[in-house]
Amino acid sequence: MHITLPDGTGLELPPGSTTADIAAKIGAGLARAAIAGKFTRDGRSEILDLHRPLPGDGAIRILTKSDDDPDALYVLRHSTAHVMAEAVCALFPETKLVYGPPVEDGFYYDLDLPRSITPEDFERIESEMARIIREDRRFTRVEMPRADAMPKLAREGNRYKIDNAERAEGDVLSFYVTGERVGQDFEDLCRGPHVPSTGVIGAFKVRQVSGSHYRGDVNDQRLQRVYGTAFFKKTSLAAYLDQIEQAKARDHRVLGQELGLFTIDPLAGSGLILWKPKGATVRLVLEEHLRGKLREQGYDPVFTPHIGRLELYRMSGHFPYYRDAQFPPLYETDASRILNEIWIALYEADKAKSRDPLGGRVARLLDELRIADPSRHAELTGAAGKSDGHRLSPDPADAPRNLQLIRDLLQHADGFLLKPMNCPHHARLYASEPRSYKDLPVRLAEFGTVYRYEQSGELSGLTRVRGFTQDDAHLFCTEDQLPDELAKCVSLTRYVLELLGLKDYRVRIGLHDPGDPKFIDNPQGWARSEEAIRQAVAASGMSATEEVGEAAFYGPKIDFVVKDCIGRQWQLGTVQVDYNMANRFNLTYIGPDNRPHRPVVIHRAPFGSLERFTGILIEHFAGAFPLWLSPVQVAVVTVSEKSEAYARTVFDRLRAEGLRAVLDVSSEKIGPKKHRHRQEKINYILVVGESEAAKGEVNVNDRDGRTLGNRPLEAFLDACRKEVQTRGLAG
Ligand SMILES: [Zn+2]
Ligand SMILES: [Zn+2]
Repeated sequence: MHITLPDGTGLELPPGSTTADIAAKIGAGLARAAIAGKFTRDGRSEILDLHRPLPGDGAIRILTKSDDDPDALYVLRHSTAHVMAEAVCALFPETKLVYGPPVEDGFYYDLDLPRSITPEDFERIESEMARIIREDRRFTRVEMPRADAMPKLAREGNRYKIDNAERAEGDVLSFYVTGERVGQDFEDLCRGPHVPSTGVIGAFKVRQVSGSHYRGDVNDQRLQRVYGTAFFKKTSLAAYLDQIEQAKARDHRVLGQELGLFTIDPLAGSGLILWKPKGATVRLVLEEHLRGKLREQGYDPVFTPHIGRLELYRMSGHFPYYRDAQFPPLYETDASRILNEIWIALYEADKAKSRDPLGGRVARLLDELRIADPSRHAELTGAAGKSDGHRLSPDPADAPRNLQLIRDLLQHADGFLLKPMNCPHHARLYASEPRSYKDLPVRLAEFGTVYRYEQSGELSGLTRVRGFTQDDAHLFCTEDQLPDELAKCVSLTRYVLELLGLKDYRVRIGLHDPGDPKFIDNPQGWARSEEAIRQAVAASGMSATEEVGEAAFYGPKIDFVVKDCIGRQWQLGTVQVDYNMANRFNLTYIGPDNRPHRPVVIHRAPFGSLERFTGILIEHFAGAFPLWLSPVQVAVVTVSEKSEAYARTVFDRLRAEGLRAVLDVSSEKIGPKKHRHRQEKINYILVVGESEAAKGEVNVNDRDGRTLGNRPLEAFLDACRKEVQTRGLAG
């Protein structure tokens, strides 16, 4: 068979060869480091055990013991989950194993056992795991026809594994035995892949336990979910645990409360952020800065309302597809609610190819309409004796006509949706005047607030909310302008990230999968836009990965993945190309040929949302914002009342200079006063006593407890001005 390596070289191998064989061919070092192979054929990838025969021709990437490779960690962590499961079963033999997948930074195993596992048990579990790892047992894959495997599982009597097996695809089920003594060593129903042996697990930790329910169903069996993590190297684990400790100290939910940045009030609604003055200041400074930048780049500001007619979202496709993620619509009248629900029911009956579209739900809704709006009801059912044009047809083939009939009626009294996206409004703004190719690109920018109905269990601080403001913009351009506009969007996003000291980032390019019908059919458009995106990214010199199948259904996209100062990764700004929106909204421009053409649309939001971005910034800066962004930049603190008048002069001067300052003339001792302002992360604390007053000076202290000494007030102001202008990035 023919195997291609990542560098493009090809290898001819006998059938049945494994990743281990390939690694050995390449070199002894690689053979020692290899743990599995990522095999790709026809655009589909699968990670296979090191010693598993490759299924045929294809490409292979050999995974090695690398803590920087998510694929390698995935295999390692899943293997560690098996080891932990064995350890728990050894300690608590009544344990029933449920399900144990790798997750983003580790793994968990759901367990059903009567005894509660507590953090006090972790050490015992870990030492049991250490024993299994020391034994360096081989993971043995055992395949079994479904017909044999099901009775075996039934004999073992674990309902969860039987469930898992029933849901698994294929006629063959696989088990992994931790060891070579099949039937004696620990085994688990599992698709794999696994590392070759337990000895590969270099460092691990059992971290947490929490409650869960079988298949997330609160009415089903209560389970215990034990979390752990694993790495190849001990130093990586230590760095990770350190990162978690640091993250706790930076938690924006805690800091946001302590520093008075924002609050969430159950009375006002969970997931709906109330920005306190200090948080609002940070947000405004960010917004103003970005507005200036957008003006420079030729964007035009727009404002649109927080709600829009349902018809707008029927046109855009946001309604009724994404109803579960939206707040329920607001209806002008009960009749408009019923008509909208009839429209949805007709729409769904058509999708389901119902042979009786007016039966069931539609019939019940028509009954409701009889009471809410008798004349409309009579019209739709034909009881009014009007012409058939106003009457719903029972023929499934008439679905489009029925749907249009209801839409026409909704012209007069529709419903509204809290806007889930800004795009439809911007599309209508574009369509509000004739556009010529000479007007393009049209760049419409808005800090637009949108609403999504996240489940209450998912809500968290500023990062998972129900209402948020995107730094949104839509660019309408010609095909020819696309490369240039994309390059500018990329550079704007980079500008924003670097402005905030988020200098460690990479990009993910989401490409379409030509074999997947969910992507719109526009080969030329895909080819051009994907090439344009690649070029824009390549020109910027950023490190990028390409992910096939990760595009939006309407066009390719770029996601920025940012590493914060403690090494956590966040997905921030996105840039998306859209070939669908202009069609849906029938957007055109008149070309040089005097004929109408479709513009291409770009959606982009460098921050993503101001809520989430601010949350990330709070954690990134641990609440200590750089001077230009700080909600309170300077505190003026008196030593005694004798310097109060001078303190007021200093304070007024700071304010006149545009600095955000507070004045503290309280009678407390100077030590506690300074301490309090440091706690509030105010950048500079100016202590003024009689001697400062006499010389027109201030005693400058920073928030880290350093005393920077006495300076003339004007010199301090100069320094602040410079620091704000350069946003603290100079030098
Ligand atoms: Zn497994
Ligand atoms: Zn958009």
